[in-house]
Amino acid sequence: MRKTIALAGLLHLAGALFSGARAGDDALVDPAYEGKYDDATIRPFLETAARIAPASLRCARRALGLPDTVSPAPKIRICDLAPLKPGRYKGPHAKTVAEAGPEGLELVIVFHAESLVNGSGDFEKRLLHEMVHASMRLSLGDDKYKRCPRWLREGIALAVAGQGPSRVRYEFSITLDAGALLQGLDEIHGPKDYAEDFLAVDFLLRRGGDRALPRLLRLLREGVPPPRAVERTARVDPGRFETSFRSAVLPALETSAASERSRFLPPFRLFQRQEYAQALEGFETFVKGPPEAEGILAGSLEGKALYYRAKSLFQLGRIEEALAGFATVRRDHACTCGLADDASFFEGECLLRSKRLEPARSAFRRFVRDHPHSNFAALGWHKLGLCHYLGGEYQEALELCQGVVEAFPKARIAENAHYDAANALRALGKKEEALALFRRFLETYPGSRFRGLAKAHIEALEKQ
Ligand SMILES: [Zn+2]
Repeated sequence: MRKTIALAGLLHLAGALFSGARAGDDALVDPAYEGKYDDATIRPFLETAARIAPASLRCARRALGLPDTVSPAPKIRICDLAPLKPGRYKGPHAKTVAEAGPEGLELVIVFHAESLVNGSGDFEKRLLHEMVHASMRLSLGDDKYKRCPRWLREGIALAVAGQGPSRVRYEFSITLDAGALLQGLDEIHGPKDYAEDFLAVDFLLRRGGDRALPRLLRLLREGVPPPRAVERTARVDPGRFETSFRSAVLPALETSAASERSRFLPPFRLFQRQEYAQALEGFETFVKGPPEAEGILAGSLEGKALYYRAKSLFQLGRIEEALAGFATVRRDHACTCGLADDASFFEGECLLRSKRLEPARSAFRRFVRDHPHSNFAALGWHKLGLCHYLGGEYQEALELCQGVVEAFPKARIAENAHYDAANALRALGKKEEALALFRRFLETYPGSRFRGLAKAHIEALEKQ
């Protein structure tokens, strides 16, 4: 894919502005964080936000061709993710909301503490991303802003913040399919669509040249309908933007994808066939790697290869090396592959497998704290309970297992958690409560593989 002159210009601007950020200019940040993290964990993020927010706002506004300042300026806040249905959606990293303030409605950029702490995004880039949203919204007004299609709003924010290429690589690492990156610029918008949003805006900016973004924004402000404003900025015939974009971008994506896939798939197929020793060899070769493939997708599968390398080691019983491998994926690849939460979970598994209960407990506690919406969340809570159970802390085990049954009733692990909660009651000597819970277990899970064990416990308890 050709290098983007327009974007290189914007990124250069971002770098210059960040390096000139003034310390102490902290009026934009709301320091009143209340949540599950302690002060020492959150304070560095509040301080960083205070330090870079004014420059971030200026940078966003200059990229859009707007005056440097705006009043009231968007505020920044950090809060914990609200509980969502587990496993459905990992939750946005940040959002911009309108709130009533002393000077009327003001915009507040809310960062989710978990994604800051677990490192699943570059804070400076994400702040700039949200500043772009806020600045566009303030410049166009709510009505015209909301009339802009999501792909355009998100694509502009990703492009200005310099998040685009990594987002494209991230999405490709999940599906391994270049075509799946381009699902169509329609109004149904999900987390998978950001890659395409960026690619479309990147195309738009390349076609439109240096001042494309300010010109687009001016047209939108004047009330030109967004599709027309896009076509005029990109200098394409009416109704031709999406077809032009696809035919310009897809061939290069396909070529880049094919070379990435050809390195990754052979060891991955061995892993899927449970041939772990050969898979490990393949992943070792991958990460030591031949020179990177060409194009925008080059290097996109490194995090994924490291994760499966660690998993191969885990399957081969090489627990120490696996542990180190999972820690690397969690620390260094949280924003480049979608497997940082899985890696965090498996760190706990490695420690539990080698019977180091105390560190395993810390690892699982960190996992459930930092990844509340992971597909592994229910399992993580149950493992935490198991660590306490194995350490003889039956009351904690009981509460954690009951928590799993209540919070994740439909998860497969709820069955184990129910059984283990009854066992913890038995270990605590609470005979009647244990009996009641074992009986309820047999009613709830009549076909359970723990049925025989539960019945044996009931008989033993009844004889006591
Ligand atoms: Zn956004």
